[in-house]
Amino acid sequence: MHRDDTNPPDRVNVKHYLESCLPCYARGLSNGERMPKRYDIVVAGAGISGLSLAALLALEGSHSVLLLEKGSVPGGRFKVEKRDGYLLDWGIHACLLGARGAIGEVLRRCASPVRISPVGMALYHDGALRAILGERLISIARQQALSSLDMARLGLAVFREWGESSYATSVAQWVETHRASAAVELLLKALCIGLLATDQFDRASIGELFSFLRQTARHGSAVGYPQGGWGPVLDTLLETVQGSPKCESRFDFGLECVIAPRKRVRAVVVNGEEIECRAVVCAFPPQMLAERVTVDPPLPAEYGRCLASLEESAGLCIEMGLNRPVTPDTRVVFSVDPPALVWAVSNLSPRVAPPGKQLIQFFSPLGPDQQKDERFISDRLDSLVDLGAAVFGGPLDEDWRRHMVTTVGGVVPFTGQARPERPAVEVPGYSGLFLIGDGVCVAGLGGDLAVRSALVAESLVCEYVRQ
Ligand SMILES: Cc1cc2nc3c(=O)[nH]c(=O)nc-3n(C[C@H](O)[C@H](O)[C@H](O)COP(=O)(O)OP(=O)(O)OC[C@H]3O[C@@H](n4cnc5c(N)ncnc54)[C@H](O)[C@@H]3O)c2cc1C
Repeated sequence: MHRDDTNPPDRVNVKHYLESCLPCYARGLSNGERMPKRYDIVVAGAGISGLSLAALLALEGSHSVLLLEKGSVPGGRFKVEKRDGYLLDWGIHACLLGARGAIGEVLRRCASPVRISPVGMALYHDGALRAILGERLISIARQQALSSLDMARLGLAVFREWGESSYATSVAQWVETHRASAAVELLLKALCIGLLATDQFDRASIGELFSFLRQTARHGSAVGYPQGGWGPVLDTLLETVQGSPKCESRFDFGLECVIAPRKRVRAVVVNGEEIECRAVVCAFPPQMLAERVTVDPPLPAEYGRCLASLEESAGLCIEMGLNRPVTPDTRVVFSVDPPALVWAVSNLSPRVAPPGKQLIQFFSPLGPDQQKDERFISDRLDSLVDLGAAVFGGPLDEDWRRHMVTTVGGVVPFTGQARPERPAVEVPGYSGLFLIGDGVCVAGLGGDLAVRSALVAESLVCEYVRQ
């Protein structure tokens, strides 16, 4: 749902960028060679979930795999764009759970040299910047956001409230029922905006937020950023897939139909051609399985309706190239009013900006009506630029700015579509049909969830095709 992209005078086409810097892409993954007619596993979608799964299957090495991508370039919502010597993230920006999260795990298994640097978190409110989480351990910091009593109460809740009822409780309900202090309410709202990508506090699931905080405590890491940006991560995954004699990748090939006589997968139809396979993994948001892909025999009507009704999150994303650095801060800064997060990502990975320049990124969630309201978006844009100047203590001297309103998460973690309610990785009632990505019933949020679902699917799919 990419709506707007201002000032793109020298925007570099992503495909050209990938061709110039990714050797395996330049080798012609999207060439017109005829495909063999039979594979063990078809992975449809080369976003971060499909690429991760294909890379894991390539490393496992036992099964023949076909990776299909409907578009002409890999990455989905995880792409990198080059502009004036800057490397701009298209979708995924922050690596949730840092090096200890699912993305770190897949990179380790690919023996990738890409390092994920830890990132601290801060809260900007009423003109003051306060620490929230340390770079490594959960340390809802002293200088700061919460009193010791608040910290103890919140810590207890995070570890005690983890059943299905917490996923069905909204942030606003939880604040009210627990008579949370103003400081706890502010902190939860800020984390909701930054981590769940929504400021609809009466709908966002507190269970998802608590689950993230528990994982942060367990792994000792909240957020990270890859050195060199996300390009080297994409590169690693593609090279792993392309380097395997068991894996084929095809671009401009969209999955059209899954053929599953007696509900056991036998083949797929791709660009009008039938290809035999034993398992199909749909690595795209679940709504698309209901709306864009035919399953024969069809998915039960109620299941299809459930998939189609899942709501996505969306927001305003700004990238700003500054002609001189304004801050040495390496933390991601959350704000509730305006709802946003902002950080100087080139402080974490200097290679994403030219020497002497600085790359600033903003994200602000938008509800469905706000996304269509040009006036609202323009006002939000102004308030975000003011926020940046306030957070970094001076005017932002921009060389250029890019902004876009776009879909962010495949399924926004609202109550009713939080983890327990999301579709399972194995499509019920069908043998050999799987669903991965950032909308399935696996722990996590955003890109971390997408990749974790690939880790979960790897063993399920391998076990299935071995039978
Ligand atoms: C602006 C923005 C900011 C974000 N910030 C963060 C962040 O900071 N941290 C974070 O963790 N996450 C973030 N996200 C979310 C993150 O980008 C996604 O969760 C993740 O990239 C989803 O990956 P995916 O593989 O599940 O899906 P996608 O990236 O959507 O990939 C699906 C792929 O499938 C292809 N496809 C669709 N239909 C078919 C078909 N029929 N046949 C073959 N291929 C098909 C699509 O073309 C696409 O390439 C952000 C997203 C956006 C847009």
